[in-house]
Amino acid sequence: MITFSRANCTPKVAATLARRRFTLARLVAGLALALGTTFGGASAALAAQAGSATIAVVAAENFYGDVAKQIGGNYVDVTSILSNPDQDPHLFEASPKTARALQNARVVVYNGADYDPWMSKLLGATGAGTSGTSRTTIVAADLVGKKAGDNPHLWYDPKTMPAVARAVSAALGAADPAHKSVYDANLATFLASLQPVDAKVAALRARYRGQPVTATEPVFGYLSDAIGLDMRNLRFQLAAMNDTEASASDIAAFERDLRERRVRVLIYNSQATEALTRRMLALAKASNVPSVSVTETQPAGVNFQQWMLAQLDSLDKALAVGTPGQH
Ligand SMILES: [Zn+2]
Repeated sequence: MITFSRANCTPKVAATLARRRFTLARLVAGLALALGTTFGGASAALAAQAGSATIAVVAAENFYGDVAKQIGGNYVDVTSILSNPDQDPHLFEASPKTARALQNARVVVYNGADYDPWMSKLLGATGAGTSGTSRTTIVAADLVGKKAGDNPHLWYDPKTMPAVARAVSAALGAADPAHKSVYDANLATFLASLQPVDAKVAALRARYRGQPVTATEPVFGYLSDAIGLDMRNLRFQLAAMNDTEASASDIAAFERDLRERRVRVLIYNSQATEALTRRMLALAKASNVPSVSVTETQPAGVNFQQWMLAQLDSLDKALAVGTPGQH
């Protein structure tokens, strides 16, 4: 049984985490100071908010921000904290800019399950209603019954986004009852737009259920499970996610799977790379094992549904050519 824990870190990662905690502690202290000095201006901030036509929404990750925007439309102003596809979200450190965005948020969405632990700490620091209004916090992990130790890449689970969208719609309707019917309608549109994704998962399941595959990092895990693929080398993937050293035997097993073509595809997280995962990608190419590139963060220029569908399409193409055991 693989546990997706940060606890079994190497000293290198422990140092990174300690640094992160230190940064966060400083940030929290600075924020408390800032709130203390601006407290007298709270009524002015409240007046400004009352005159504002949009609801401030902050999403820790840009795919949740996208869904909030699809539900809220012109009535929301969405800020997404993690949105850089060239950055590894597992190594993210919160900045004062992050804290400032949260201060005025009426609705906050984050992943949970220890993917973005900086969020709950920042929220604790800013407290509820620092601008004089109530704040609704939506945690994806709580909605789908996941916790620290589970695979944290919940947005790849087909069950997650419908639950998040429903929660966002309810929060917006409560914050802005005048436009509740708009949020309800946008929710219905969003849920309907996920149907092609679900249909694609079902089609892949019918064709490829039980087929062996491997991945450099667990980001695609829930979708792989939904399709029914036999995902191999989980311990290696966990080490890549936590930026720890994979064991020699786990590396050897991974290499054997590629060299002997025991897997039909390599799913490659292009956002969590290091020398070792790049080496596996090169070995897959040399061994004629097709690879599929996936990302943690939603790429620019596409919405969540298009992003998922595009990745499922490339997986489909790769599975179609990658027959195992043929030399
Ligand atoms: Zn990841």
